[in-house]
Amino acid sequence: MAGEIMEEIKVHFAGTGNAFNHDGYLNQSIIIESGEHYMAVDAGPTFLLGMERMKIPAIKVNQILLTHFHGDHVAGIPFQLINFAVIYKMPKLRIIGPAGTEKRIIQLIEATYPEVDYVPWLEFKELEIIRKDTIPISDDIMVDTYPMLHSRESLGYNISIGDKQIAITGDTRWNATIPLLMDNRDLGIIECTTMEKEGSDHISFHELIEYRHRLHCKTLAAVHTNAAIRNELKTLHTHHVKVVNDGETIVI
Ligand SMILES: [Zn+2]
Repeated sequence: MAGEIMEEIKVHFAGTGNAFNHDGYLNQSIIIESGEHYMAVDAGPTFLLGMERMKIPAIKVNQILLTHFHGDHVAGIPFQLINFAVIYKMPKLRIIGPAGTEKRIIQLIEATYPEVDYVPWLEFKELEIIRKDTIPISDDIMVDTYPMLHSRESLGYNISIGDKQIAITGDTRWNATIPLLMDNRDLGIIECTTMEKEGSDHISFHELIEYRHRLHCKTLAAVHTNAAIRNELKTLHTHHVKVVNDGETIVI
């Protein structure tokens, strides 16, 4: 609408590292801020630490969207549950993720804080592991789902908030769906875990450089990566891959 000021979306990179915190980077966790609303994409063991360092109010991060169930993407959830159930005594924590999310997250909570009555504090929404568009996950957020090749439940998402779109691969090996996921988005967030591609369930630096020209998002940011790969990406800046570090925010 003419004259309407569209809301800025802030994408906070609370953690940009791999499963092993190589070179000191926190586990991958991305917090999307839109007006008064906050949603995390993935929540690894360092989830709360990353938010503390960025002064993101954890109490407001009441939605977590999961790309898959590996520990470096979900193991921070029990701590956020304790925040909601014991410290803040605030309304429910919503966990949204691929089919099987509820069972896996309850197993995780029962293994770590079995004495906590989690039922009143948790709400789940599961998404089919298929390619599907415009699935509402909350009042102002819709996602398109793109199955990825990593674990059997892995989903990449195009997240739509108003007229802004953020695509994220989660963990995956390179595949032909990624250019479709990234097409024409305001921000694309792609994993780049290894230098070489052999024997990996991840995207390598060499693949990212080889296929960069097929990824038509306005900004492409690489995460789930180590210092050596970051240095190579910065050196080869003509490839237009943005290297994001822990604590950075991209405004779209
Ligand atoms: Zn993984």
